[in-house]
Amino acid sequence: MHELAVTRSILKIVLEHTEKNRSSRVRTIFLKIGELRNLEEDWIQRYFDQISKGSPAENAKIHVTQVPVVFICKLCKKEFSAAFREDTKILCPHCNGFEYDLLSGREFIIEKVEVE
Ligand SMILES: [Zn+2]
Repeated sequence: MHELAVTRSILKIVLEHTEKNRSSRVRTIFLKIGELRNLEEDWIQRYFDQISKGSPAENAKIHVTQVPVVFICKLCKKEFSAAFREDTKILCPHCNGFEYDLLSGREFIIEKVEVE
């Protein structure tokens, strides 16, 4: 129930936001989610519809921008993207180096909340 826990925390933050801004209704919630988070947009929306009932965030639309997984090679300092799987070894496509840092892909950001 990964998505449900995440959706709960989104709702909590969004409701705090509406309270602070004294707005009565939330229209759209813009999220930025790294691909490594493995979250399904459909499920987030579905859970959100359930748990937001009766709150100012009821019927809000969730918009997700996926952030691709990008590594930076420690050897040649070039960036590359790769499908991340724990059982596969990732090599830098430029120099075959195998030491790298993750630049993006783990994001979980509420970018913007549109209210009325
Ligand atoms: Zn490299």
